[in-house]
Amino acid sequence: MISKPLVFAAISDIAGKTRGKAFPVSDLEKRLRRGVGWTPTNVQITCFDTIAPSPFAALGDLQIIPDPKAGAEVDFGDGGTVERFMIGDIQELDGTPWAFCTRSILKSALARLNAAGGIALVSAFEHEFQFPDSTAAPGEAYTLGGFSRRRHFGEALFAALEQGGLTTDTFMKEYGPEQYEATNGPASGHRSADHAVILRELTRMTALRCGERVSFSPILDPASVGNGVHIHMSFTDASGAPVTYDEEGPAGMSALTGAFIAGVLKYLDAIVALTAASDISYLRLTPHRWSAAFNNLGFRDREASVRICPVQSGDAETRARQYNFEYRAADASASPYLTLAAIVHAGAQGIEDALPAPQATSEDLSLVPPKDLARRGYLRLPQTLDEALCRFEQNPTVTGWFPKGFAELYTAHKRCEIAHLDGMTDAERCAAYRDVY
Ligand code: GLU
Ligand code: MG
Repeated sequence: MISKPLVFAAISDIAGKTRGKAFPVSDLEKRLRRGVGWTPTNVQITCFDTIAPSPFAALGDLQIIPDPKAGAEVDFGDGGTVERFMIGDIQELDGTPWAFCTRSILKSALARLNAAGGIALVSAFEHEFQFPDSTAAPGEAYTLGGFSRRRHFGEALFAALEQGGLTTDTFMKEYGPEQYEATNGPASGHRSADHAVILRELTRMTALRCGERVSFSPILDPASVGNGVHIHMSFTDASGAPVTYDEEGPAGMSALTGAFIAGVLKYLDAIVALTAASDISYLRLTPHRWSAAFNNLGFRDREASVRICPVQSGDAETRARQYNFEYRAADASASPYLTLAAIVHAGAQGIEDALPAPQATSEDLSLVPPKDLARRGYLRLPQTLDEALCRFEQNPTVTGWFPKGFAELYTAHKRCEIAHLDGMTDAERCAAYRDVY
């Protein structure tokens, strides 16, 4: 069939959706300068296609300026069409960043981190997802058999990720039914959030090419495990040297790392509305699912919200390079830009306020009586999205990190999403999210 190649200019929005519009590749040079038109009220389209109250109504015009460095061009080699998309920033027509562009919000957070600690963030997203339409074979958790059954998919995905400019890490059969995990390599600053968007989209596209579908929804079955997004983080100084680790520091944390993590834990109950952004995210964030339920730091503990990850023993220099910590209270209903922005702002606040490093727990906090938890400074995370939204909007420090009007926009959007689910059982809610993420 005849064809004129198109490239899709994409943004990742409050709904965690990748939206935008396509233009001919032959117009690329012009579009890199002038972008494609965009509408402010689109930001209030929920994941269910309902539209939340918008301060912009039908008014206004914006532009998406694609970033050629955040683009993927993938030929799956199956005789089908070549996929092409470029992630961009949303700007006002005069070229200034639009206040509610999630990618620009992340760039501001990273600039604040740099000003506060003289450091740059290096991070990598680990994604879990499931094939919801096929019947799970029992006994496949972490097995070669489970991997091998999807080797064809995994190898196509990793080839696609490489064509999309990502470095690849690991692919495995996760614990849950038909659940898999794909991890790409670290990248600096906002690039790692670009990579998270690219990975989610290429995973969906690869599944379609294999005649299947995947879901990144936070949880498919209230009685089973969820699909987490775990974000591994470390810091470098202006010379590019690692500054996350200190041989003498508590659990190996440098003073900067300790203050950053202390900030994340201090504001966790308010930022979780942005990092675990769906109604059913809170079914996942419950004890004994290896997700996160309390605002604690764990030393190699998979139930902690922030976990110090293992490093191989070896010389101190190698350990300093490998040392990283992981934020686990996130899922793919949230835009990776907003997730990372919220974490980075909370961490930067911790550095600015020189918070002392938190103690790492190594126990099951769900067994600790509530009054002892409170005495030790631990909080159970919000147990519904509505509660998380209240904590967010009622915390002026946290809302103050974001552009004026953002908290109102975000909470209106999310409350419209919640309204769509009114009267549904947990299983029906899970089914609704399964089909949109
Ligand atoms: N599926 C778990 C989650 O929801 C994570 C399991 C793991 O440690 O990889 O976060
Ligand atoms: Mg996992």
